[in-house]
Amino acid sequence: MLPRPRFARPTRVTTLIVVTALSLSMTAVAVAGGAMSVPTFVPKMADQVTNLDILRSQIKNYYGTPTAATGMTNCNKNLAPAADSNYSAEAAGVAADGSRWLSTGWRPTGAAKAIVLDVDDTTLATWNYELCSNWAFDPGTNGQFVTDQRFPAVPGMVAMVNQAAENGYAIIFLTGRGQSQEAATLGNLTHDGIGVDAGYPNPTTLNDGEDGLFTKPPVGSYPAYLNKPQFCGPSITAGVSCPTVLYKSGVRAHIEDLGYEIVGNFGDQFSDLKGGFADKTFKMPNPNYFLP
Ligand SMILES: [Mg+2]
Repeated sequence: MLPRPRFARPTRVTTLIVVTALSLSMTAVAVAGGAMSVPTFVPKMADQVTNLDILRSQIKNYYGTPTAATGMTNCNKNLAPAADSNYSAEAAGVAADGSRWLSTGWRPTGAAKAIVLDVDDTTLATWNYELCSNWAFDPGTNGQFVTDQRFPAVPGMVAMVNQAAENGYAIIFLTGRGQSQEAATLGNLTHDGIGVDAGYPNPTTLNDGEDGLFTKPPVGSYPAYLNKPQFCGPSITAGVSCPTVLYKSGVRAHIEDLGYEIVGNFGDQFSDLKGGFADKTFKMPNPNYFLP
C-alpha cells in the first residue's frame, strides 16, 4: 500500500472524568451525525467524582501493576498487563464468551461467517502507552509506539481468534488507526519479527481481493461504498473525518454486502459496537479513555 499522510486519531476523552458519571447510570447514546455523546454530568460536590490520583491508583491495581511508573521518561514501554490481574481475567472472560458464541450460539445462515475485531484495547493492549503518556493521548508519541510495535495481545483474545480461524471464520480487523500505520499494525498483530508479535492469524483476504485489515483512510480518500447518506456520505460531502460509528458500521455493511455474515463484533469502545451489521457484540474492558 502506498504511504499516505498520517491520519490523526480523533481526540479522545479520558475516562478519568467520566467514570463516576457511568456509576450514576448515565449511558452513552448515539446522537445526530453519528458521533456519540460523552456520558458526563456537572458535579455539585467534589465527593461526586473520584479523586484523580486515587483513580489512577485504582486503575493501576486493576491492571495488576500497582507500582508502575508513569511518564515517558520513567515508564516501562514494554509493560504488559499482569497475567493475574483483574483486567486480564475480565478480558479473558469476554474472549471466552466470544468463543462460546462462535462455536455453539450461532445459527448458520448459509453466508460465509466472519468476525470483526477492533485493534487498540480489543486485540492489542495499550496499557503501557496509557502509563507512558500519563493518560494523555498524543498522536506523535502514540505513533512511535505503533511503529515500534510495542503492544502485547489482550489476554484470551489470541486463542479465541485462532480457534475462530480454525473453525472457518473470516478474520477481519477494523481499526480507527490510519492507513499509514497499516504495515506496523499488521506486524504487531501477527508476526514480522519486529517488536511484539502478538500471534494472531493473518487477516483473511476477502472474496473481492481486499485484505482483511481495515485501517481508516485519510479524508478525501474514502472508498465509494462509504459514500452513502446513512454512513460517511455527509462527511465526504463536507470534507471532514467520518465519525467512528458511521465509519465502522459502513465498513461492516460493506463486508456483509460481500456475502459475509458478521457473527461476532469485538470492541472496547461503544463506538466500535453501535450501528448494527453484527449478530452479537462483545465489549472488552477499558477504563482508560472514551472514544466518541
Ligand atoms: Mg479500541
